[in-house]
Amino acid sequence: MKVHLRFGMHRDVKLIHDEKDRIDGLVVPAHILAYQSASTSVFVTSMHKKPYVIDPMTFVFQNPKEAYLNDAGEIRPSIQKLCDAYDDSLAKRILALGPEDFLPPNVFSQSNKFCQRVAQFQLEQVGKASATSGASKYLKRYAATQVTAPRAVIPPYFRFESIDHDWYKLSLECANKTRKLVNKVEVAPVICCAAATLTDAIVEKISKDYGNFQRVFIWIDRYVQTSVPSVDIRKVRRLLVALRGATVEIETLYGGFLLILSSFDGMSAISHGILYTQHKSTDLVPGSGGVPERYYIPAIHEFRSLSQTDLIIHKHPELICDCPVCEEVLGGEPDKIILFGDNPDLLRRHFLYCRRREADSITTSSPEAEAKRLRDVFKKYHDSFLALPNPDAFVSSSKIQGLEYLNHWANAFVAS
Ligand SMILES: [Zn+2]
Repeated sequence: MKVHLRFGMHRDVKLIHDEKDRIDGLVVPAHILAYQSASTSVFVTSMHKKPYVIDPMTFVFQNPKEAYLNDAGEIRPSIQKLCDAYDDSLAKRILALGPEDFLPPNVFSQSNKFCQRVAQFQLEQVGKASATSGASKYLKRYAATQVTAPRAVIPPYFRFESIDHDWYKLSLECANKTRKLVNKVEVAPVICCAAATLTDAIVEKISKDYGNFQRVFIWIDRYVQTSVPSVDIRKVRRLLVALRGATVEIETLYGGFLLILSSFDGMSAISHGILYTQHKSTDLVPGSGGVPERYYIPAIHEFRSLSQTDLIIHKHPELICDCPVCEEVLGGEPDKIILFGDNPDLLRRHFLYCRRREADSITTSSPEAEAKRLRDVFKKYHDSFLALPNPDAFVSSSKIQGLEYLNHWANAFVAS
C-alpha cells in the first residue's frame, strides 16, 4: 500500500527530504500552494519527481463564511489567494452572500470556467512559481531542475449528504466536465461524505456514477478511527468493494490504520500529515489549530501524549517501539521518553517509520490475522489503559472507550 504525505508546514521540509524513502508521494493542499506559492513549488520540485497531486480544497466554499474570516472580518489570506486563483470575483461574491444563498449553482454558475481554472491551477502553478529567480537558487541547492506535472488532476468537489443533494450533483458535474477539459493527465475525482450517508442505494449510485473513472479519492468526513462503530466501517467497506468491482483504483485523502486495513477491500493508497490528519472534518477551515506533539504507539495504532506514553511504557515496556529512531533515543529505557519532548522531529521520524511498516506489512497479511492481532491487543491492554490516571483514552459520542475501537475494527472485517 502506498503512503502519500499531506504537506502542511514548511518547517517539515528538511525532515521530509531526509525521510523521503518512507513515502511514495505527496498531496499538496491548493490553499498552501496559492498562498506560499514559490516556497511550496520549490519544495514539490525539489522532491525529485516524487509523484504528487494538488488537493483543490473547494469544499471550504461550502462552509459558512464566518468560518474563514479573521477577527477583522476579512477572508483569511490563504483562502483569499485560493479564491483569486479560481475566480477573480469569487471572494467578493462569497462575502456578499448569506448561507441560504450559498448553494449551487449560484456561486458556481459557470462551472465550466470554474473547472477550467481549478484544473489549470493544478497543472501550471508549480511550474510557474518554480521559474522565478529566487526559486532557482533553492532548486540548485537540491540539484532539482525539472518540474513534473501532477500525477492526476482533482476536479472541484464538495461534501454531500444524499445523492439528491445539489452538492452531489455539482461534484459529479465538475468531475465529468473536468475529464472533458483535461487530456494530458488522469482526472481523479473525490467522493466526500460521512459514513452514515452510505446506504446500499447510495453506494450503488456512486459506483455507477464514478465507475468509469480510473481512480477516485475518498474522504469519509469525520471518520475518527477511535470512535467509529463497526456498522459504519462496514458501510465504507461496501463502497470500496463496489468501486473496486467497477475496477476503480481507490485512494483515501485522509486515513489511519483503519483505512490501511481496507487494503483488503482494494484501497491502494493512504494519505495524512505527519502526526495529524488521520481523519478530517469538512467544516474545519484549514490553518486553524496547531499540531500536537504526540507519540505513535504502534501496537494500538494510535497517538498518545508524551506524558501518557510515559505511563504506558513504564507499565508495559514491551510496547516500546523497535524502529531505528526509538532504538537510538530510548534504547529500551522508558525514562528516556522525555527526550522526544526536546526534539519533536524525532516523533515525526518515528511515526513515518511506523506508518511505512504498517503499509508494507498489510500486503502480506490477511483480515483474519489482523483481526486476531487486534483482539489480542485489546484483551491484553484495555483494562490497564482504562485504569491509567487521567487517561486521554477517547470517550466518544458512540461510547467507545479505551481500546474498544480495536474490537470494532476487527469485527468489521471478521465476525467475532
Ligand atoms: Zn519508533
